[in-house]
Amino acid sequence: MNAALDRMMDFDLSEEQRLVRKTVREFAESEILPHIEMYEREERYPTELVEKLPALGLMGPMIPEEYGGSFSDVLTYGVICEELARVDWVVASVVSVANSLCAGSILKFGTDEQKQRYLPGIAAGEIICSACLTEPRGGTDLGNMETTAKKVEGGYLLNGTKVFISHAEHAGLFFIVASIDRSKKHKGVTAFIADPREMKGMTIGKFPMRTLKRDNLAEVHFEDCFIPDEAVLGDAGRGFPILGNALDMGRFSVAARCVGQSQRAIDLAAPYAMEREAFGQPIGEFQLVQNKLADMVARTEQSRLLVYRLARMKDAGLERCSLESSLAKLKSSQAATQNALDGMAVFGGYSVTAEYEIGRLLMEAKALEFGEGTSDLHQKMVAEFALGIRSL
Ligand SMILES: Cc1cc2nc3c(=O)[nH]c(=O)nc-3n(C[C@H](O)[C@H](O)[C@H](O)COP(=O)(O)OP(=O)(O)OC[C@H]3O[C@@H](n4cnc5c(N)ncnc54)[C@H](O)[C@@H]3O)c2cc1C
Repeated sequence: MNAALDRMMDFDLSEEQRLVRKTVREFAESEILPHIEMYEREERYPTELVEKLPALGLMGPMIPEEYGGSFSDVLTYGVICEELARVDWVVASVVSVANSLCAGSILKFGTDEQKQRYLPGIAAGEIICSACLTEPRGGTDLGNMETTAKKVEGGYLLNGTKVFISHAEHAGLFFIVASIDRSKKHKGVTAFIADPREMKGMTIGKFPMRTLKRDNLAEVHFEDCFIPDEAVLGDAGRGFPILGNALDMGRFSVAARCVGQSQRAIDLAAPYAMEREAFGQPIGEFQLVQNKLADMVARTEQSRLLVYRLARMKDAGLERCSLESSLAKLKSSQAATQNALDGMAVFGGYSVTAEYEIGRLLMEAKALEFGEGTSDLHQKMVAEFALGIRSL
């Protein structure tokens, strides 16, 4: 790393937050990073790396201590997501899905029994979480979901299919959204949490991917799959605000992960630019290469500031920050994609060889532009706030 860039990164952090960054970075660089290429080559989900997280309290930064978590402020959680994503996006995704989408929803909307049942296991790394939201005919228009939950004695029968589901094969908790009445659109949406190992009528299939294969994305089918009344999170038909709340925090952690990925592109491209020579000098001395590095640093800092500001707002008690979450997610995921592209330009043809990591960042960053709301959706939301069509 580079002392000048480090100073910008840490300008607003407390001593304790700096220490968390240092600790997570050292852990991530020594315990995770050296193994990623092997998992990538073998297209294998990094279970063994995820198992290292609980020892440092990294599985439960948003889970209170009474449930075994290492509860911290939102900014510290963002720094953790950033540092983990700097070395590996799958490991960072495990933490972010567990804390932002699942534990956060259970803490806010769950019963005491649901909290006791799931939160200690999540914090201990014994329960991996998976969010089943997207469907084959659309992920953006979630209010129009086709998966149904029909009320029967003692519970509900789920029918439908979810696609692109991260961590599903490894999960001990599914956060599912389904409609109890499709004619009511978003007012029929209901949120459920359940242990997939107890769900008869649920099957998990492979979701074929061209890249990002070690993510192990899955298709989840529900066919007359019974889940008990106790699996409802909050109230039936009141799942849409729960989803909105989960996605607000989810967008924060995805944005923080994008900052880590943007930073990684700089960390890789800058030393390469000083090593690689052309026309008798390091390519880093060519102004066109310098322009790319300067843009990469500026983009990363802009997105980091948006993410940290959002964290500060959440730490100040504002739970829903839709405008700021959309803006942070939009700009930081676009920055991560553009940094991967600029970083690849610095590496030239070597960027697409197996020898260098930089090319891998591109697909990961682009995928982060889709997850938890596409760039188009966030652009639309930001514009609607500006136009007064949408209000706080
Ligand atoms: C690697 C990866 C991991 C994922 N993990 C999960 C997961 O764990 N759980 C889960 O549920 N989902 C997951 N997803 C799915 C992701 O959330 C969806 O891909 C995303 O929500 C978009 O849905 P879609 O792909 O169906 O696109 P669509 O909704 O079909 O949209 C297609 C295009 O139309 C545009 N569009 C749609 N509506 C509008 C509009 N109103 N205005 C302007 N443009 C619009 C979109 O921006 C997009 O460009 C994952 C995706 C990826 C790539």
